[in-house]
Amino acid sequence: MKELIAIYGLDCEACDARIATVTNDNALREKTAELWSELNGVPITAEMINCEGCRTNGVQTPFCNNLCPIRQCALKKSCDTCGDCPDMEHCETVGSVHGSNAEAKMRLKGEKTMKYTKSEPYCTSALMEKIMGPNPLKLEEELLLNHRIPKGAVVMDLGSGQGLTSVFLAKEYGFKVYAADLWSDPDENKKFFAEMGLDETQIVPVKADALQLPFEKEFFDAVVSTDSYNYYGRDKEYLDKCLLPFVKKGGYIYITVPGMKKDLHNNLPQELLLSWTAEQLDYIHDAEYWADIVSASTAQVVSVSEMESNEEVWADWLKQENEYALSDRKTMEAGGGKYLNFIKIVLRKI
Ligand code: SF4
Ligand code: SF4
Repeated sequence: MKELIAIYGLDCEACDARIATVTNDNALREKTAELWSELNGVPITAEMINCEGCRTNGVQTPFCNNLCPIRQCALKKSCDTCGDCPDMEHCETVGSVHGSNAEAKMRLKGEKTMKYTKSEPYCTSALMEKIMGPNPLKLEEELLLNHRIPKGAVVMDLGSGQGLTSVFLAKEYGFKVYAADLWSDPDENKKFFAEMGLDETQIVPVKADALQLPFEKEFFDAVVSTDSYNYYGRDKEYLDKCLLPFVKKGGYIYITVPGMKKDLHNNLPQELLLSWTAEQLDYIHDAEYWADIVSASTAQVVSVSEMESNEEVWADWLKQENEYALSDRKTMEAGGGKYLNFIKIVLRKI
C-alpha cells in the first residue's frame, strides 16, 4: 500500500497538515490549526501542525504520534494499516473515521476511489480522436484532485498536444491557459479553442520547445504537464535550467508521466517489447527514479506517487483506431499492462 495512505485510510498526500509541513507554509498551518480546533473542539496550535504522514519516517503531530487510538491499536496488533486487521469491518475505533469517510475504507481494501466527474463529459468519440495516448483528461483530473492552484491563475499546459487538456484546464478549473506545444499547429489549436467556446482571454496556443520556453521569467502561477514530461524532463538539470525560471515563487508544478511499477530496464519483459523498443521504453521509469530526478532541483518536492488511473485511461486509448493505438494493443492484449502505471509529481517553487 502507498506510504502516503494513513493507517486509518485517509489520503496523507492531500492532507493540509502534510502539505503545510513539506512546503513549510505557515499560513496553511494557521488555517489548518483553526479548522481542526473547530472540528475537534480542542485548541490546536499552528506549531502542532507538523506531519508527513503516519506511515512515513517523517515528523508527525503529537496526536498522530502518541495519542491516536487507531495508530496505537494498529501498532500493538502489528498491522501496517487497519486494512490488514481481521476486525476492521466491525471495529468502532476506526469506524469513527470510516463512518464519515467511505473512501478511507475503500483505500484500505485496495479499492479505487477515483471518479471522473469532470472528464467523463469530454469523453465523446469526436474529442477522443484528439488524444495521443492513454486518456489525458482522466489523468489530469486525478492529477489535480485537491490541487493548490487558484481560479484565474495563469497556467502553462506544457506539452499540450492538440489542446484538449488545455481546454479542460480553462473550462473546468477556470485557469488562464497557455497551451505550449512543439509539435501541434497553434493555428489549428486556436480554431479548436474557438469551437469549444473559448477566447484569447481564456486560452492562448503557443509553439514552444520545452527546452527553450518562449515566455517572460516568473510569468506563470503554475504549470501542468500531462503525459509528456518523460520526453524532456529526465535530465536532472532540466527543472532548474529550463522550467522553474518561468514560474512565480510559491507556484506549483503538477506533472503526470507514464511509468513502470518497478524499473525493469535490465530485464525488459517480452510483453512490453511487442509494442515498444528498449530505446522507447527508456522514457518510462518508476516513482523512485522520478523522485531522484526531481529531488536534484531547487524545487520543493511535495509528492511523487503512483496514481490510481491506469486500466481505464488505457482502455479509452486502445479503443482508438489510429496506428499508434493499434500498435499499443499488442502489449496490452498480452498482459503487459501489469508492469505499467502512471506517476504523479507535485513540486513547488521556492
Ligand atoms: S497522518 Fe498526518 S498527514 Fe496523514 S492524514 Fe493524518 S495528519 Fe494528515
Ligand atoms: S482493531 Fe480497529 S483500530 Fe485496531 S487495527 Fe484493527 S481495525 Fe484498526
